[in-house]
Amino acid sequence: CGIIGSVGRGRETLGVLVRGLSNLEYRGYDSAGVAVSDASLSVCKRSGELDALKEALQGKTLEGNAGIGHTRWSTHGPPTDANAHPHTDCTGEVAVVHNGIIENYEVLREELEGAGHTFESETDTEVVPHLIEDLRAEGMDFETAFRKAVSRLEGSYAIAAVIEESETIFAARNDSPLVLGVGEGATYLGSDVPAFLDFTDRVVYLDDGEVARLSPDGWAVTNLVGERIEKDVETVDWE
Ligand code: GLU
Repeated sequence: CGIIGSVGRGRETLGVLVRGLSNLEYRGYDSAGVAVSDASLSVCKRSGELDALKEALQGKTLEGNAGIGHTRWSTHGPPTDANAHPHTDCTGEVAVVHNGIIENYEVLREELEGAGHTFESETDTEVVPHLIEDLRAEGMDFETAFRKAVSRLEGSYAIAAVIEESETIFAARNDSPLVLGVGEGATYLGSDVPAFLDFTDRVVYLDDGEVARLSPDGWAVTNLVGERIEKDVETVDWE
């Protein structure tokens, strides 16, 4: 349903994510969650109102320069804590949020379970972190594994992924909106401009088949095979 992402140094990533999620509440949702990357990956997610997530986050320090957040509107699996996003792989190193529906998730899940992956949710989304895990185990770096994993998906998706020990977010879309926010020393990701409008009004709209890389040093857009795509930065006039 709603996606927020934030990358930047010397700032409160978790605060940005929670603010983004509250700005996305108007879309409606049944669960919410966040993942922040540091030396290890921290994930916190709850079914119900954003207040339930905020309560779960009390006293926790999720520190790191890259993070993603999600408000879920269930399509596959009831609104439970386990089905809330972000979803992780078996190692807990990769976290993924997703809007939309992955039509071929059953085939992918069967294949992954056959290869020894254990699933913790009933969502279509959870195949994505496991696909990335599988490809990384074959020796691919995070970026290549992300591209290959996304290339295997059929259906509609806006997807964002983070990995431990990294300040980079990767994102991709097909038939579901996704937009970058370009700030000073920070880059944002949103399913919709209001997600990050408190922080910047300079945006880059992503198109189907594009992959975005967000890092503290900037952003880049490529296609699914890694070829650079030139994109315009626009200033939104959002009332
Ligand atoms: N299909 C996914 C799920 O049920 C994502 C739903 C959404 O767009 O929030 O978890």
